[in-house]
Amino acid sequence: MDNNPAKLIDGARISIVKGDITKMTTDAIVNAANSGLMGGGGVDGAIHRAGGPAILEECKKIVSRQGRLPTGQAVITTGDRMKTRHVVHTVGPIWRGGDQGEPDLLASAYRESLKLAAENNISSIAFPSISTGVYGYPVEEASRIAVKTVASFLREPSSIKEVIFVLFNAEAYDAYASALEELP
Ligand code: ADP
Repeated sequence: MDNNPAKLIDGARISIVKGDITKMTTDAIVNAANSGLMGGGGVDGAIHRAGGPAILEECKKIVSRQGRLPTGQAVITTGDRMKTRHVVHTVGPIWRGGDQGEPDLLASAYRESLKLAAENNISSIAFPSISTGVYGYPVEEASRIAVKTVASFLREPSSIKEVIFVLFNAEAYDAYASALEELP
């Protein structure tokens, strides 16, 4: 059995794993996208490569319908060639020193992703560490916000019973493991 860090919140499970989010078998995975939804580097590039062109097609339709995706909001597409059925695309804030609304925007990215997943009756969802790559958000602060926001969402009734943080490197894994440990 695995001994990944995990906690139960009102019957729903939060856990931390190290790995590649494109391999997850959860109902949905979350993409740390940018507002243009055109793909990019980091986890965004990995998801589009693994999922195939149908994801970009849907993203383009969304942008032509509703414009660029504002920071802190989320939209949903197919997971196409991946094992996951859905990709929730959200835009985290770019770190500009921390006094430009970054904490609220980061919390919003997690909350809006979960809300949209619940509207789609999703029960399991995997998140990457939003904003802590190219967007430069310090990972310890980001991990506390991520874990706290997910936990408070799970305290209210919804379809979501499992949230997995999938961390790509040891530093992020350790930060999320500590944040989960600190959770009351
Ligand atoms: P952002 O622009 O929001 O900072 P990045 O993709 O640059 O997004 O980085 C977010 C996090 O995703 C980083 O911690 C990065 O190491 C991680 N990451 C990159 N590829 C993957 C992957 N395949 N699975 C999970 N996490 C990944």
